[in-house]
Amino acid sequence: MRLLLVEDDVYLQKSLSIALKQKGYTLSCVSSGKEAIVSAEWDSIDLVVLDLGLPDIDGLEVLKEIKSFNSAMPVLLLTARDKISDRVKGLDSGADDYLVKPFNVDELVARLRVLERRVSQQSGLTIDNKGLSLDSKGHTATLDGQIMDLPKKEFLLLKALMEALGRVLTKDSLEAKVYDMGEEALSNSIEVHMHHLRKKLPKNFIKTIRGVGYTIPKN
Ligand code: CA
Repeated sequence: MRLLLVEDDVYLQKSLSIALKQKGYTLSCVSSGKEAIVSAEWDSIDLVVLDLGLPDIDGLEVLKEIKSFNSAMPVLLLTARDKISDRVKGLDSGADDYLVKPFNVDELVARLRVLERRVSQQSGLTIDNKGLSLDSKGHTATLDGQIMDLPKKEFLLLKALMEALGRVLTKDSLEAKVYDMGEEALSNSIEVHMHHLRKKLPKNFIKTIRGVGYTIPKN
C-alpha cells in the first residue's frame, strides 16, 4: 500500500511518517494542496491521509479535486477543527473517514486498515481494453480470448498499467507496484520485464512516453 500523507505541520508530518513506515506503509509526504493533487494523480497512490487545514488550498477543495479524477481513491481526513460542519462537509465531499486532532497513531492505523480492506475487496475487477481482459483478483489476463502466460512481475506490471488506463505511470511508481517492500529491484529490471511483456502484446499496446514513463492508451 502506497500512502500519500498531506500535512503541513512539519513535526506532525515527520512523526506520522516515521510511525507509518514502521507499520509497513510506503509513503509520499507533501505539505501543500497543490503537491497533494499532483501526487494523487501521478504517483500510483492507494490511500490518502489529508489534513484539512493547508496553507494554499482548502483541504476540502483538494479532496474534491482528487475525487474528480479518481472517485474510488480512499481519503481519510485529518481535522484540527472539531466542528460537526467540517466533518459533514468532508463526508459529503466523498471522504471515507476522518480523525480529529490530536489522535493516537494506532487509531489512525486501525482506520487505515479498514479502508485498505475496502479497497482490496473493490479491486477484484475485470478491466478490458483492445481485446485484453485482465482479472485482477483471479490473476489472469486473456488476449483475444487466449489466456496469456505471464510470470508474476509481468502480470503486476500489466495490472498497474491497466488500472491506470489512459494515464502515464513513471518507472518509480511501477517499481512500487511490482516489487514488494524490501525486495531489491535491479536498476533496469522494469525495462526488462516491460520488454518481455511487450513481446506478448500487440504492437504499441503499451506506449513509452520518453523521459516520463509508460501508458496504455484508452481504447
Ligand atoms: Ca494544517
